[in-house]
Amino acid sequence: NTWSSSRVREEFFSYFRSKDHTFVPSSSTIPYEDPTLLFANAGMNQYKSIFLGTVDPHSELAKLKRAFNSQKCIRAGGKHNDLEDVGKDSYHHTFFEMLGNWSFGDYFKVRAPNKEAIEYSWELLTHVYKLPKDRLYVTFFEGDSTNGLQPDFEARQFWLDCGVAEDHILPGNAKDNFWGMSLGFVVLGCMNADLRSEMGATGPCGPCSEVHYDRLGGRNAADLVNKDDPNVVEIWNNVFIQFNREDDGSLKLLPSKHVDTGMGFERLVSIVQGKLSNYDTDIFSPIFSKIQEMTGVRSYEGKFGKEDVDGIDTAYRVVADHVRTLTFALSDGGVPNNVGRGYVLRRILRRGARYARKKLGVTIGSFFSSLMPVVVEQMVRPSESISAATVNAHNQGGVFPELTKRVDEVKEILDEEEESFSRTLDRGEKLFEQYVSRARERRDNNLSGKDVWRLYDTYGFPVDLTRLMADELGMAVDEAEFEEAQAQSKEASKAQKKGTKDTVKLDVHDIAALEKSPRVPKTDDSAKF
Ligand code: ATP
Ligand code: MG
Ligand code: MG
Ligand code: MG
Repeated sequence: NTWSSSRVREEFFSYFRSKDHTFVPSSSTIPYEDPTLLFANAGMNQYKSIFLGTVDPHSELAKLKRAFNSQKCIRAGGKHNDLEDVGKDSYHHTFFEMLGNWSFGDYFKVRAPNKEAIEYSWELLTHVYKLPKDRLYVTFFEGDSTNGLQPDFEARQFWLDCGVAEDHILPGNAKDNFWGMSLGFVVLGCMNADLRSEMGATGPCGPCSEVHYDRLGGRNAADLVNKDDPNVVEIWNNVFIQFNREDDGSLKLLPSKHVDTGMGFERLVSIVQGKLSNYDTDIFSPIFSKIQEMTGVRSYEGKFGKEDVDGIDTAYRVVADHVRTLTFALSDGGVPNNVGRGYVLRRILRRGARYARKKLGVTIGSFFSSLMPVVVEQMVRPSESISAATVNAHNQGGVFPELTKRVDEVKEILDEEEESFSRTLDRGEKLFEQYVSRARERRDNNLSGKDVWRLYDTYGFPVDLTRLMADELGMAVDEAEFEEAQAQSKEASKAQKKGTKDTVKLDVHDIAALEKSPRVPKTDDSAKF
Protein backbone atom coordinates (compact mmCIF):
# COMPACT_ATOMS: atom_id res chain seq x y z
CA ASN A 1 0.00 0.00 0.00
CA THR A 2 1.50 3.29 -1.10
CA TRP A 3 -0.75 5.45 1.10
CA SER A 4 1.47 6.12 4.09
CA SER A 5 -0.09 8.41 6.68
CA SER A 6 2.29 11.22 5.74
CA ARG A 7 1.24 10.94 2.13
CA VAL A 8 -2.41 11.17 3.14
CA ARG A 9 -1.63 14.40 5.01
CA GLU A 10 0.48 15.76 2.17
CA GLU A 11 -2.26 15.17 -0.40
CA PHE A 12 -4.73 17.09 1.73
CA PHE A 13 -2.28 19.97 1.99
CA SER A 14 -1.41 20.05 -1.69
CA TYR A 15 -5.05 19.81 -2.75
CA PHE A 16 -5.98 22.95 -0.83
CA ARG A 17 -2.74 24.68 -1.82
CA SER A 18 -3.82 24.15 -5.40
CA LYS A 19 -7.13 25.85 -4.57
CA ASP A 20 -5.37 29.03 -3.37
CA HIS A 21 -5.50 28.24 0.34
CA THR A 22 -2.67 29.30 2.68
CA PHE A 23 -1.08 27.01 5.24
CA VAL A 24 -1.48 28.25 8.82
CA PRO A 25 0.38 26.22 11.44
CA SER A 26 -1.75 24.47 14.02
CA SER A 27 -2.39 26.46 17.16
CA SER A 28 -1.16 25.13 20.49
CA THR A 29 -3.14 22.33 22.13
CA ILE A 30 -3.15 24.59 25.19
CA PRO A 31 -5.30 27.63 24.33
CA TYR A 32 -3.59 30.24 26.52
CA GLU A 33 -5.59 33.06 25.03
CA ASP A 34 -9.02 31.53 25.27
CA PRO A 35 -10.50 31.08 28.74
CA THR A 36 -13.57 29.35 27.29
CA LEU A 37 -11.57 26.30 26.23
CA LEU A 38 -9.67 23.58 28.10
CA PHE A 39 -7.77 22.38 25.04
CA ALA A 40 -7.84 23.13 21.34
CA ASN A 41 -10.67 20.82 20.28
CA ALA A 42 -11.23 21.90 16.68
CA GLY A 43 -9.39 23.64 13.87
CA MET A 44 -11.60 26.70 14.05
CA ASN A 45 -10.53 27.78 17.53
CA GLN A 46 -7.69 29.98 16.36
CA TYR A 47 -9.88 31.83 13.85
CA LYS A 48 -12.60 32.85 16.27
CA SER A 49 -11.69 36.53 16.04
CA ILE A 50 -12.04 36.48 12.25
CA PHE A 51 -15.48 34.89 12.48
CA LEU A 52 -16.59 37.32 15.15
CA GLY A 53 -15.26 40.28 13.18
CA THR A 54 -13.05 41.35 16.09
CA VAL A 55 -9.73 40.54 14.39
CA ASP A 56 -7.12 43.30 14.35
CA PRO A 57 -7.47 44.63 10.78
CA HIS A 58 -3.69 45.13 10.51
CA SER A 59 -2.79 41.59 11.52
CA GLU A 60 -1.71 38.76 9.23
CA LEU A 61 -4.85 36.87 10.17
CA ALA A 62 -7.09 39.64 8.86
CA LYS A 63 -5.60 39.22 5.39
CA LEU A 64 -6.47 35.54 5.21
CA LYS A 65 -9.20 34.58 2.80
CA ARG A 66 -8.60 30.83 2.49
CA ALA A 67 -6.59 28.63 4.82
CA PHE A 68 -5.76 24.99 5.53
CA ASN A 69 -3.85 23.04 8.15
CA SER A 70 -3.76 20.04 10.41
CA GLN A 71 -4.87 21.15 13.86
CA LYS A 72 -3.68 19.35 16.98
CA CYS A 73 -6.84 18.59 18.95
CA ILE A 74 -7.45 17.20 22.42
CA ARG A 75 -10.91 16.07 23.44
CA ALA A 76 -10.70 15.14 27.08
CA GLY A 77 -12.61 16.98 29.78
CA GLY A 78 -14.89 19.91 29.02
CA LYS A 79 -17.53 20.03 26.33
CA HIS A 80 -16.07 17.40 24.03
CA ASN A 81 -14.86 14.58 26.23
CA ASP A 82 -13.90 11.39 24.45
CA LEU A 83 -11.57 10.10 27.17
CA GLU A 84 -13.78 7.29 28.36
CA ASP A 85 -14.17 5.88 24.83
CA VAL A 86 -10.47 5.58 24.30
CA GLY A 87 -9.28 2.00 24.30
CA LYS A 88 -12.83 0.76 23.85
CA ASP A 89 -13.56 1.89 20.31
CA SER A 90 -11.60 2.02 17.07
CA TYR A 91 -12.07 5.66 16.14
CA HIS A 92 -12.05 8.07 19.10
CA HIS A 93 -8.76 9.39 20.45
CA THR A 94 -8.00 11.94 23.12
CA PHE A 95 -5.41 13.47 20.78
CA PHE A 96 -6.06 13.59 17.06
CA GLU A 97 -5.23 15.69 14.05
CA MET A 98 -8.05 17.58 12.42
CA LEU A 99 -7.40 18.41 8.79
CA GLY A 100 -9.24 21.56 7.82
CA ASN A 101 -9.91 24.11 5.12
CA TRP A 102 -11.43 27.52 5.74
CA SER A 103 -13.03 30.35 3.90
CA PHE A 104 -13.20 33.68 5.69
CA GLY A 105 -16.00 35.62 4.07
CA ASP A 106 -14.80 34.19 0.75
CA TYR A 107 -16.44 31.09 -0.72
CA PHE A 108 -19.55 29.69 0.94
CA LYS A 109 -22.15 27.25 -0.23
CA VAL A 110 -24.03 29.45 -2.58
CA ARG A 111 -21.68 31.31 -4.88
CA ALA A 112 -23.12 30.00 -8.15
CA PRO A 113 -22.03 28.27 -10.25
CA ASN A 114 -19.45 27.00 -7.72
CA LYS A 115 -20.38 25.13 -4.59
CA GLU A 116 -16.87 25.12 -3.34
CA ALA A 117 -16.95 23.73 0.16
CA ILE A 118 -19.05 20.74 -0.74
CA GLU A 119 -17.43 20.19 -4.13
CA TYR A 120 -13.95 20.40 -2.64
CA SER A 121 -14.65 17.71 -0.11
CA TRP A 122 -16.34 15.44 -2.64
CA GLU A 123 -13.54 15.87 -5.19
CA LEU A 124 -10.80 15.28 -2.64
CA LEU A 125 -12.42 12.14 -1.24
CA THR A 126 -13.43 10.54 -4.51
CA HIS A 127 -10.73 11.73 -6.95
CA VAL A 128 -7.62 12.18 -4.84
CA TYR A 129 -8.16 9.51 -2.18
CA LYS A 130 -10.31 7.52 -4.60
CA LEU A 131 -12.84 6.41 -2.03
CA PRO A 132 -15.72 4.46 -3.62
CA LYS A 133 -18.82 6.64 -3.86
CA ASP A 134 -21.16 3.89 -2.71
CA ARG A 135 -19.40 3.80 0.67
CA LEU A 136 -19.93 7.50 1.33
CA TYR A 137 -22.98 8.98 3.05
CA VAL A 138 -23.63 12.68 3.64
CA THR A 139 -25.91 14.54 6.02
CA PHE A 140 -27.54 17.99 6.07
CA PHE A 141 -29.25 20.01 8.81
CA GLU A 142 -32.96 19.20 8.92
CA GLY A 143 -33.85 22.52 10.57
CA ASP A 144 -35.22 23.30 14.01
CA SER A 145 -38.64 24.89 13.91
CA THR A 146 -38.76 25.72 17.62
CA ASN A 147 -35.75 27.97 17.09
CA GLY A 148 -36.76 29.27 13.67
CA LEU A 149 -33.89 27.56 11.86
CA GLN A 150 -34.54 26.46 8.29
CA PRO A 151 -33.53 23.08 6.87
CA ASP A 152 -30.35 23.29 4.80
CA PHE A 153 -31.79 22.12 1.46
CA GLU A 154 -29.01 23.97 -0.36
CA ALA A 155 -26.42 21.62 1.02
CA ARG A 156 -28.60 18.67 0.07
CA GLN A 157 -28.95 19.99 -3.49
CA PHE A 158 -25.20 20.57 -3.88
CA TRP A 159 -24.43 17.02 -2.84
CA LEU A 160 -26.94 15.83 -5.44
CA ASP A 161 -25.20 18.05 -8.00
CA CYS A 162 -21.90 16.36 -7.13
CA GLY A 163 -23.48 13.05 -8.05
CA VAL A 164 -24.25 11.67 -4.59
CA ALA A 165 -27.13 9.20 -4.75
CA GLU A 166 -30.35 10.40 -3.15
CA ASP A 167 -30.49 7.56 -0.65
CA HIS A 168 -26.98 8.46 0.52
CA ILE A 169 -28.06 11.96 1.61
CA LEU A 170 -29.64 12.04 5.05
CA PRO A 171 -31.23 14.74 7.20
CA GLY A 172 -29.76 15.24 10.66
CA ASN A 173 -30.89 17.00 13.83
CA ALA A 174 -29.26 19.88 15.69
CA LYS A 175 -27.20 17.55 17.83
CA ASP A 176 -25.33 16.13 14.84
CA ASN A 177 -25.81 18.81 12.20
CA PHE A 178 -25.54 22.17 13.89
CA TRP A 179 -21.96 22.59 14.99
CA GLY A 180 -21.59 24.45 18.25
CA MET A 181 -24.99 23.33 19.46
CA SER A 182 -24.40 19.77 20.49
CA LEU A 183 -25.65 20.48 23.98
CA GLY A 184 -29.04 21.50 22.62
CA PHE A 185 -31.05 24.63 23.21
CA VAL A 186 -32.92 23.23 26.16
CA VAL A 187 -29.88 22.34 28.20
CA LEU A 188 -28.15 25.57 27.27
CA GLY A 189 -31.20 27.56 28.28
CA CYS A 190 -31.08 26.06 31.76
CA MET A 191 -27.41 26.70 32.32
CA ASN A 192 -26.05 29.97 33.62
CA ALA A 193 -23.95 32.12 31.32
CA ASP A 194 -20.65 31.44 33.10
CA LEU A 195 -21.03 27.71 32.87
CA ARG A 196 -22.05 27.91 29.23
CA SER A 197 -19.05 29.93 28.27
CA GLU A 198 -16.68 27.80 30.30
CA MET A 199 -17.89 24.70 28.54
CA GLY A 200 -17.06 26.25 25.20
CA ALA A 201 -20.76 26.33 24.36
CA THR A 202 -20.69 29.92 23.14
CA GLY A 203 -19.04 31.21 19.99
CA PRO A 204 -19.28 30.97 16.20
CA CYS A 205 -21.54 28.22 14.89
CA GLY A 206 -23.83 27.17 12.08
CA PRO A 207 -25.49 24.28 10.28
CA CYS A 208 -23.14 21.57 9.12
CA SER A 209 -23.05 18.87 6.53
CA GLU A 210 -21.02 15.78 7.28
CA VAL A 211 -19.49 12.91 5.36
CA HIS A 212 -19.61 9.37 6.76
CA TYR A 213 -17.90 6.26 5.49
CA ASP A 214 -19.12 2.67 5.52
CA ARG A 215 -16.00 0.59 6.22
CA LEU A 216 -17.67 -2.69 5.29
CA GLY A 217 -19.74 -1.97 2.16
CA GLY A 218 -22.08 -4.34 0.40
CA ARG A 219 -25.11 -3.32 2.45
CA ASN A 220 -27.32 -0.35 3.13
CA ALA A 221 -25.51 1.55 5.85
CA ALA A 222 -27.81 4.60 5.87
CA ASP A 223 -29.46 3.44 9.10
CA LEU A 224 -26.10 3.22 10.85
CA VAL A 225 -24.99 6.80 10.24
CA ASN A 226 -24.51 8.67 13.54
CA LYS A 227 -25.41 5.54 15.53
CA ASP A 228 -21.98 4.89 17.08
CA ASP A 229 -21.33 2.01 14.73
CA PRO A 230 -17.55 1.52 14.45
CA ASN A 231 -17.92 0.51 10.81
CA VAL A 232 -19.90 3.55 9.71
CA VAL A 233 -17.80 6.46 10.87
CA GLU A 234 -18.06 10.18 10.50
CA ILE A 235 -15.03 11.52 8.69
CA TRP A 236 -15.57 15.12 7.66
CA ASN A 237 -17.58 17.99 9.02
CA ASN A 238 -18.31 21.03 6.81
CA VAL A 239 -19.67 23.86 8.94
CA PHE A 240 -21.34 26.88 7.40
CA ILE A 241 -20.55 29.45 10.03
CA GLN A 242 -23.04 32.28 10.15
CA PHE A 243 -24.07 32.77 13.80
CA ASN A 244 -22.51 33.52 17.12
CA ARG A 245 -23.97 31.82 20.15
CA GLU A 246 -24.23 34.55 22.78
CA ASP A 247 -23.84 34.12 26.51
CA ASP A 248 -27.61 34.03 26.95
CA GLY A 249 -27.81 31.09 24.54
CA SER A 250 -29.36 33.06 21.67
CA LEU A 251 -27.98 33.06 18.12
CA LYS A 252 -26.83 36.30 16.53
CA LEU A 253 -25.98 36.65 12.83
CA LEU A 254 -22.29 37.29 12.18
CA PRO A 255 -21.06 40.12 9.93
CA SER A 256 -20.01 37.61 7.21
CA LYS A 257 -20.45 33.97 6.30
CA HIS A 258 -17.59 31.51 6.53
CA VAL A 259 -16.69 27.91 5.91
CA ASP A 260 -15.00 25.84 8.60
CA THR A 261 -14.25 22.19 7.99
CA GLY A 262 -12.65 19.43 10.01
CA MET A 263 -11.70 15.92 8.97
CA GLY A 264 -10.32 13.34 11.39
CA PHE A 265 -6.88 12.48 10.06
CA GLU A 266 -6.52 9.10 11.79
CA ARG A 267 -9.96 8.02 10.54
CA LEU A 268 -9.14 9.11 7.01
CA VAL A 269 -5.83 7.26 7.06
CA SER A 270 -7.46 4.03 8.24
CA ILE A 271 -10.03 4.29 5.45
CA VAL A 272 -7.56 5.13 2.70
CA GLN A 273 -5.42 2.23 3.92
CA GLY A 274 -8.45 -0.08 3.86
CA LYS A 275 -8.34 -0.83 7.62
CA LEU A 276 -11.24 -1.32 10.02
CA SER A 277 -9.61 0.54 12.90
CA ASN A 278 -7.55 3.71 13.26
CA TYR A 279 -5.11 1.68 15.32
CA ASP A 280 -4.29 -0.61 12.37
CA THR A 281 -2.35 2.14 10.60
CA ASP A 282 1.24 3.34 10.49
CA ILE A 283 0.21 6.15 12.85
CA PHE A 284 0.05 3.68 15.74
CA SER A 285 2.21 0.75 14.67
CA PRO A 286 5.58 2.34 15.58
CA ILE A 287 4.23 3.12 19.08
CA PHE A 288 2.87 -0.42 19.42
CA SER A 289 6.24 -1.88 18.39
CA LYS A 290 8.01 0.17 21.00
CA ILE A 291 5.49 -0.86 23.67
CA GLN A 292 6.08 -4.48 22.80
CA GLU A 293 9.83 -4.06 22.76
CA MET A 294 9.74 -2.50 26.21
CA THR A 295 7.26 -4.84 27.87
CA GLY A 296 7.78 -8.14 26.05
CA VAL A 297 4.01 -8.77 25.92
CA ARG A 298 2.45 -10.45 22.90
CA SER A 299 1.99 -8.29 19.82
CA TYR A 300 -1.13 -6.23 19.14
CA GLU A 301 -4.00 -8.28 17.69
CA GLY A 302 -6.64 -5.59 17.26
CA LYS A 303 -9.34 -7.15 19.43
CA PHE A 304 -12.06 -5.14 21.15
CA GLY A 305 -14.42 -5.59 24.07
CA LYS A 306 -14.99 -9.14 25.30
CA GLU A 307 -12.91 -10.55 22.45
CA ASP A 308 -9.90 -8.90 23.97
CA VAL A 309 -9.87 -11.55 26.68
CA ASP A 310 -6.66 -10.57 28.46
CA GLY A 311 -7.21 -6.83 27.94
CA ILE A 312 -3.81 -6.42 26.32
CA ASP A 313 -5.06 -4.92 23.07
CA THR A 314 -7.13 -2.38 24.98
CA ALA A 315 -4.05 -1.47 27.00
CA TYR A 316 -1.99 -1.02 23.83
CA ARG A 317 -4.61 1.40 22.51
CA VAL A 318 -4.93 3.36 25.73
CA VAL A 319 -1.20 3.73 26.24
CA ALA A 320 -0.49 4.67 22.61
CA ASP A 321 -3.32 7.19 22.59
CA HIS A 322 -2.37 8.73 25.91
CA VAL A 323 1.32 9.04 25.13
CA ARG A 324 0.45 11.00 22.01
CA THR A 325 -1.79 13.34 24.00
CA LEU A 326 0.78 13.86 26.73
CA THR A 327 3.60 14.40 24.24
CA PHE A 328 1.70 17.11 22.41
CA ALA A 329 0.15 18.79 25.43
CA LEU A 330 3.34 18.88 27.49
CA SER A 331 5.42 20.03 24.51
CA ASP A 332 2.96 22.89 24.17
CA GLY A 333 3.63 23.88 27.78
CA GLY A 334 0.86 22.01 29.59
CA VAL A 335 1.69 20.57 33.01
CA PRO A 336 -0.13 17.86 34.97
CA ASN A 337 -1.37 19.28 38.26
CA ASN A 338 -4.51 19.49 40.36
CA VAL A 339 -6.49 22.12 38.51
CA GLY A 340 -8.33 22.50 35.22
CA ARG A 341 -6.47 21.32 32.17
CA GLY A 342 -3.54 20.25 34.28
CA TYR A 343 -5.80 17.89 36.15
CA VAL A 344 -7.12 16.42 32.90
CA LEU A 345 -3.52 15.71 31.87
CA ARG A 346 -2.86 14.08 35.23
CA ARG A 347 -5.93 11.87 34.82
CA ILE A 348 -4.76 10.82 31.37
CA LEU A 349 -1.33 9.88 32.63
CA ARG A 350 -2.73 7.92 35.56
CA ARG A 351 -5.20 6.10 33.37
CA GLY A 352 -2.40 5.15 30.99
CA ALA A 353 -0.03 4.19 33.79
CA ARG A 354 -2.56 1.88 35.38
CA TYR A 355 -3.19 0.04 32.09
CA ALA A 356 0.55 -0.25 31.56
CA ARG A 357 1.05 -1.74 35.00
CA LYS A 358 -2.03 -3.95 35.10
CA LYS A 359 -2.16 -5.32 31.58
CA LEU A 360 1.30 -4.87 30.14
CA GLY A 361 3.23 -5.83 33.27
CA VAL A 362 5.19 -2.59 33.42
CA THR A 363 7.00 -2.33 36.74
CA ILE A 364 9.84 0.04 36.03
CA GLY A 365 9.41 3.82 35.76
CA SER A 366 10.11 6.06 32.76
CA PHE A 367 7.65 4.13 30.62
CA PHE A 368 5.96 7.12 29.03
CA SER A 369 9.15 9.11 28.61
CA SER A 370 10.64 6.18 26.71
CA LEU A 371 7.68 6.04 24.34
CA MET A 372 7.63 9.76 23.75
CA PRO A 373 10.57 9.91 21.27
CA VAL A 374 8.68 7.56 18.93
CA VAL A 375 5.87 10.09 18.72
CA VAL A 376 8.27 13.00 18.28
CA GLU A 377 10.22 11.25 15.54
CA GLN A 378 7.04 10.42 13.66
CA MET A 379 5.56 13.88 13.88
CA VAL A 380 8.41 16.23 13.05
CA ARG A 381 9.20 14.85 9.63
CA PRO A 382 9.47 17.61 7.07
CA SER A 383 6.55 18.33 4.81
CA GLU A 384 7.10 19.43 1.22
CA SER A 385 3.80 21.09 0.65
CA ILE A 386 3.95 23.43 3.61
CA SER A 387 7.52 24.66 3.29
CA ALA A 388 6.33 27.46 1.04
CA ALA A 389 3.41 29.84 1.40
CA THR A 390 3.00 29.65 5.13
CA VAL A 391 1.92 32.60 7.19
CA ASN A 392 4.51 31.71 9.79
CA ALA A 393 8.12 31.98 8.70
CA HIS A 394 9.30 30.02 11.74
CA ASN A 395 7.58 26.86 10.72
CA GLN A 396 10.74 25.38 9.13
CA GLY A 397 8.72 23.24 6.78
CA GLY A 398 7.83 20.55 9.32
CA VAL A 399 4.33 19.51 10.31
CA PHE A 400 4.82 19.83 14.09
CA PRO A 401 8.41 21.09 14.56
CA GLU A 402 7.52 22.41 18.02
CA LEU A 403 7.74 18.88 19.41
CA THR A 404 11.52 18.98 19.43
CA LYS A 405 11.80 22.10 21.55
CA ARG A 406 11.24 20.84 25.08
CA VAL A 407 11.97 17.13 24.88
CA ASP A 408 14.05 16.96 28.06
CA GLU A 409 11.64 18.99 30.15
CA VAL A 410 8.72 16.93 28.94
CA LYS A 411 10.51 13.68 29.79
CA GLU A 412 11.27 14.98 33.24
CA ILE A 413 7.64 15.91 33.88
CA LEU A 414 6.45 12.54 32.62
CA ASP A 415 8.88 10.68 34.87
CA GLU A 416 7.98 12.74 37.90
CA GLU A 417 4.26 12.16 37.36
CA GLU A 418 4.60 8.48 36.69
CA GLU A 419 6.77 8.06 39.73
CA SER A 420 4.43 9.91 42.06
CA PHE A 421 1.48 7.84 40.90
CA SER A 422 3.21 4.49 41.08
CA ARG A 423 4.20 5.19 44.70
CA THR A 424 0.55 5.09 45.69
CA LEU A 425 -0.90 2.77 43.06
CA ASP A 426 -0.39 -0.50 44.92
CA ARG A 427 -1.73 0.73 48.22
CA GLY A 428 -4.63 2.42 46.47
CA GLU A 429 -5.52 -0.77 44.64
CA LYS A 430 -5.54 -2.74 47.90
CA LEU A 431 -7.91 -0.20 49.32
CA PHE A 432 -10.03 -0.42 46.20
CA GLU A 433 -10.32 -4.18 46.68
CA GLN A 434 -11.50 -3.66 50.24
CA TYR A 435 -14.17 -1.27 49.02
CA VAL A 436 -15.26 -3.86 46.48
CA SER A 437 -15.64 -6.57 49.13
CA ARG A 438 -17.56 -4.17 51.34
CA ALA A 439 -19.97 -3.39 48.51
CA ARG A 440 -20.36 -7.08 47.78
CA GLU A 441 -21.08 -7.83 51.43
CA ARG A 442 -23.83 -5.24 51.23
CA ARG A 443 -25.00 -6.97 48.03
CA ASP A 444 -24.59 -3.61 46.39
CA ASN A 445 -23.29 -3.17 42.88
CA ASN A 446 -22.21 0.39 43.66
CA LEU A 447 -19.02 1.34 45.42
CA SER A 448 -19.61 3.81 48.20
CA GLY A 449 -19.09 7.36 46.96
CA LYS A 450 -17.38 8.27 50.20
CA ASP A 451 -14.86 5.51 49.67
CA VAL A 452 -14.24 6.58 46.11
CA TRP A 453 -13.65 10.12 47.27
CA ARG A 454 -11.16 8.89 49.87
CA LEU A 455 -9.33 6.95 47.19
CA TYR A 456 -8.95 10.16 45.23
CA ASP A 457 -8.11 12.33 48.17
CA THR A 458 -5.55 10.03 49.72
CA TYR A 459 -4.14 8.05 46.81
CA GLY A 460 -4.73 10.33 43.85
CA PHE A 461 -7.13 8.01 42.03
CA PRO A 462 -9.21 10.27 39.79
CA VAL A 463 -12.83 9.16 39.88
CA ASP A 464 -12.82 8.21 36.21
CA LEU A 465 -10.03 5.75 36.94
CA THR A 466 -11.97 4.25 39.82
CA ARG A 467 -15.06 4.13 37.64
CA LEU A 468 -13.06 2.21 35.07
CA MET A 469 -11.73 -0.23 37.65
CA ALA A 470 -15.26 -0.77 38.95
CA ASP A 471 -16.52 -1.26 35.42
CA GLU A 472 -13.94 -4.00 34.88
CA LEU A 473 -15.66 -5.88 37.70
CA GLY A 474 -19.16 -5.14 36.41
CA MET A 475 -19.68 -2.59 39.19
CA ALA A 476 -20.25 1.16 39.34
CA VAL A 477 -19.66 4.15 41.58
CA ASP A 478 -22.37 5.76 43.70
CA GLU A 479 -22.01 9.09 41.91
CA ALA A 480 -24.42 11.09 44.04
CA GLU A 481 -22.65 10.06 47.24
CA PHE A 482 -19.30 10.78 45.62
CA GLU A 483 -20.37 14.30 44.76
CA GLU A 484 -21.64 14.84 48.26
CA ALA A 485 -18.36 13.67 49.76
CA GLN A 486 -16.44 15.89 47.40
CA ALA A 487 -18.56 18.92 48.24
CA GLN A 488 -18.18 18.27 51.97
CA SER A 489 -14.45 17.97 51.68
CA LYS A 490 -14.26 21.24 49.74
CA GLU A 491 -16.27 22.98 52.41
CA ALA A 492 -14.01 21.57 55.08
CA SER A 493 -10.85 22.67 53.36
CA LYS A 494 -12.31 26.10 52.73
CA ALA A 495 -13.02 26.36 56.41
CA GLN A 496 -9.44 25.45 57.15
CA LYS A 497 -8.38 28.06 54.61
CA LYS A 498 -6.00 25.78 52.83
CA GLY A 499 -6.36 25.32 49.10
CA THR A 500 -5.27 22.39 46.99
CA LYS A 501 -1.55 21.99 47.30
CA ASP A 502 0.26 21.60 44.06
CA THR A 503 3.40 19.52 44.29
CA VAL A 504 4.38 19.73 40.66
CA LYS A 505 6.01 22.94 39.57
CA LEU A 506 3.85 24.98 37.25
CA ASP A 507 5.07 25.87 33.84
CA VAL A 508 5.43 29.62 33.29
CA HIS A 509 3.00 29.49 30.40
CA ASP A 510 0.54 27.57 32.46
CA ILE A 511 0.75 30.07 35.25
CA ALA A 512 0.11 32.84 32.78
CA ALA A 513 -2.86 30.94 31.41
CA LEU A 514 -4.29 30.28 34.83
CA GLU A 515 -3.98 33.91 35.76
CA LYS A 516 -5.75 34.94 32.60
CA SER A 517 -8.54 32.46 33.08
CA PRO A 518 -8.91 31.76 36.77
CA ARG A 519 -12.43 30.44 36.39
CA VAL A 520 -11.65 27.63 34.00
CA PRO A 521 -9.64 25.42 36.31
CA LYS A 522 -11.94 25.92 39.25
CA THR A 523 -15.14 25.03 37.48
CA ASP A 524 -13.77 22.14 35.47
CA ASP A 525 -12.17 20.76 38.58
CA SER A 526 -15.32 20.67 40.60
CA ALA A 527 -17.70 19.84 37.78
CA LYS A 528 -15.81 17.11 36.07
CA PHE A 529 -13.47 14.95 38.11
P1 ATP B 1 -18.10 11.76 16.48
O1 ATP B 1 -19.57 11.95 16.24
O2 ATP B 1 -17.53 10.61 15.73
O3 ATP B 1 -17.74 11.75 17.93
P2 ATP B 1 -17.85 14.60 16.22
O4 ATP B 1 -19.13 14.89 15.55
O5 ATP B 1 -17.76 14.77 17.69
O6 ATP B 1 -17.37 13.07 15.86
P3 ATP B 1 -16.67 16.95 14.99
O7 ATP B 1 -16.76 17.85 16.16
O8 ATP B 1 -17.66 17.13 13.90
O9 ATP B 1 -16.66 15.42 15.51
O10 ATP B 1 -15.16 17.03 14.44
C1 ATP B 1 -14.79 16.90 13.07
C2 ATP B 1 -14.12 15.58 12.76
O11 ATP B 1 -13.06 15.26 13.67
C3 ATP B 1 -15.03 14.37 12.85
O12 ATP B 1 -15.79 14.23 11.66
C4 ATP B 1 -14.06 13.22 13.04
O13 ATP B 1 -13.55 12.76 11.81
C5 ATP B 1 -12.93 13.86 13.82
N1 ATP B 1 -13.00 13.50 15.26
C6 ATP B 1 -13.85 14.01 16.17
N2 ATP B 1 -13.61 13.52 17.41
C7 ATP B 1 -12.56 12.66 17.26
C8 ATP B 1 -11.82 11.86 18.16
N3 ATP B 1 -12.10 11.83 19.47
N4 ATP B 1 -10.80 11.11 17.68
C9 ATP B 1 -10.50 11.13 16.36
N5 ATP B 1 -11.16 11.87 15.45
C10 ATP B 1 -12.16 12.64 15.88
MG1 MG C 1 -17.79 13.39 19.21
MG1 MG D 1 -20.72 13.41 15.19
MG1 MG E 1 -19.45 15.97 13.77
